[in-house]
Amino acid sequence: MSFLKVENLRASYGNIQALKGIDLEVEKGEIVAIVGANGAGKTTLLTCISGLMGYTGTITYDGQVLGGKITADKIVKMGVVQVPEGRQIFSELSVLENLKMGAYSRPKGEDPRPDIERVFKLFPRLEERMHQKGGSLSGGEQQMLAMGRAMMARPRLLLLDEPSMGLAPVVVADIFRNIRELNEEGITIVLIEQNAKLALKTANRAYVIENGEITLSGPADELARNEQIRKAYLGG
Ligand code: ATP
Repeated sequence: MSFLKVENLRASYGNIQALKGIDLEVEKGEIVAIVGANGAGKTTLLTCISGLMGYTGTITYDGQVLGGKITADKIVKMGVVQVPEGRQIFSELSVLENLKMGAYSRPKGEDPRPDIERVFKLFPRLEERMHQKGGSLSGGEQQMLAMGRAMMARPRLLLLDEPSMGLAPVVVADIFRNIRELNEEGITIVLIEQNAKLALKTANRAYVIENGEITLSGPADELARNEQIRKAYLGG
């Protein structure tokens, strides 16, 4: 049984059908990329997995069918943590306070310090800026903070929505190194990206989503060589 299995997933916003029957699987330890153009349905897919939107079809995580009584907060407690598009950090709170907010799903009274240490080890820049307000950080640092905050919930499956968005190439390279490090720590990753080149370089496998449907899938290196993908997503 796959770690995450999505079967015939359909979801709509009013009359707009955003997902039209998605099937995908993620194995433990993998980085799986979901690539596709603007509006293809990538964010909607993550929103459904996180339990923040109604859908039909079945999402099974670690042997349990999500939805029904397994609501969004329970899904976080089970280890499925989303890093939203645009980071959504608390700009008025310090880096440290932002990280502590990420531990809300942990049992009450549990000491967050070991988790904070772990985040600082992965993102030394956050330790240097620990007392600065989130809003004063650079875009790359804010992305690190968003990932660090997610780490505080002790994810087993991390859902990353467009981590490269709005960042300079050199910063993007740092962030993707961090993503590989998180994966090496044993965290399974679903990575949504418009930057298909980078996503396919980083992931083990990938799915291409177009207009709410999966049109191609396979090992990332194979997809990176695929003529159709090269034309549509990799600039020829
Ligand atoms: P992007 O990278 O722009 O976020 P995406 O691939 O993540 O693109 P989604 O955001 O999942 O795509 O959007 C899928 C479809 O659903 C699009 O047609 C979009 O316009 C529509 N949609 C998304 N959010 C809403 C919403 N809150 N209300 C109405 N329609 C929406």
